[in-house]
Amino acid sequence: MNAPLQNPHHRPSTKAAVQKCIAADCGASHGITEQIYVCRKCGGPLEIDCHLETFPDPASFRQIWKMRAASQDPRDRSGVWRHREVLPFEDHAPIVTLFEGNTPIYGAPKCARYAGLRSLTLKHQGNNPTGSFKDTGMTAAVTQAVILGARAVVCASTGNTAASLAAYAARANLKCVVLLPEGQTSPAKIAQSMDYGAIILEVAGNFDDCMRLTHELADVPWIYIANSVNPFRIEGQKTVAYELMVQSDWKVPDHVVVPGGNMGNSSAMGKGFDEMRRMGLIDRLPKLSIIQVEGASPLAQLFSKHMQSDSGIEDLQLAQIETVARPRTLATAIRIGAPVSWKKALRAVLQSNGNVISVSEPELADAKAMVGLEGIGCEPASAAAVAGIRKLVAQEQIGKDESVVAVLTGHVLKDPDYVSQYHRGALSLEPDRDGKTQPIVGAFRNSAVRVAAAKDAIVEILRREL
Ligand SMILES: *Cc1c(COP(=O)(O)O)cnc(C)c1O
Ligand SMILES: [Zn+2]
Repeated sequence: MNAPLQNPHHRPSTKAAVQKCIAADCGASHGITEQIYVCRKCGGPLEIDCHLETFPDPASFRQIWKMRAASQDPRDRSGVWRHREVLPFEDHAPIVTLFEGNTPIYGAPKCARYAGLRSLTLKHQGNNPTGSFKDTGMTAAVTQAVILGARAVVCASTGNTAASLAAYAARANLKCVVLLPEGQTSPAKIAQSMDYGAIILEVAGNFDDCMRLTHELADVPWIYIANSVNPFRIEGQKTVAYELMVQSDWKVPDHVVVPGGNMGNSSAMGKGFDEMRRMGLIDRLPKLSIIQVEGASPLAQLFSKHMQSDSGIEDLQLAQIETVARPRTLATAIRIGAPVSWKKALRAVLQSNGNVISVSEPELADAKAMVGLEGIGCEPASAAAVAGIRKLVAQEQIGKDESVVAVLTGHVLKDPDYVSQYHRGALSLEPDRDGKTQPIVGAFRNSAVRVAAAKDAIVEILRREL
């Protein structure tokens, strides 16, 4: 086995790293091994500060990270731990890994044409061990749970967080409890949690209720909460930005576009790019844009309200989000009315001059089918990014010659019912307050054709189709 590639300048960062409150009027620092999820002083959100500005030679990281991709050391085989210089863990931390990260980037000419762009790159986070980007965060959060000596890990989830936590907890021999909104989770995702041995609690309520319950459980000392309020998850997830830059030979794209649910992903992306800029690894930030779906778009609503008002976006940071009590969308991974990380995410959007918009249910469905036609596929929520890019191009917020990366968040097999219903023309959004359902007539339907068990019948059909 190859020896792990060490950065000679790297000193253990754990002693230096702190959990820092992001509230502008607080900024309190807390120790890295304190088991807290919000600021002890003001209740504000926390993020990890690794004091990256003190690194003596960050430029050397580029070479080290690139070389580690060919190493067989378990830490180097993980796309997350390969970038360990920027993570708040000691070199000898007891890491829990399933070799997450290392996800491909694809050129997507059909999606580009569909969106009105000359080219489009898809970064497919669905190609992670449990099929979503959540794995990049869970490897860090579950490692921290082991360091803290937790007995059980808990999360609220629309399905993917649960599947991911269940898998990493199984690897680490920790009990795992997942809270899922009853009847609102794809069976494929629940099946994963079952298989990985989690205790599955189907809560009579929606995702936001599950989230509230995990907050209430946070004071039980032997339980570790692994939702995206957990700043260690964000640390793992931010490495996606680093990995993207390594894969792009450090050419900064003009735009990075992600779907937004609870907004841990967008916050993490923003943090990664901001860190790289502060270390001098990149000289500008890509514009980070977040796409929500109309029935679950509290941040997009806040954003457009401020764009249209005289005060503009200056005081947006001080504004308060209006939560959506009954979020509605078939993209269950982003069916969230009260996103916990909206402040961090909005900060990253404003810092990079990005956008927050929403797309309609049919727009999302057709964009998803388009990703499928590339031979790639993704889960419904992921396609919000592609649908959003198409809309931003139409609004001239994205120029047709600009370089754009869409982050696909989950695998196509995460929600097979959605896929087959779309292609059979049977997809429809649940009834709204007035009891009206919204049928979705896909533009790219492709259902199965029944045929007699005879060569002639098959040739006859193929003649018509080809
Ligand atoms: C979790 C998830 C999202 C939403 O990510 P946030 O960090 O909550 O904004 C989007 N798509 C998929 C597939 C997910 O699993
Ligand atoms: Zn604080």
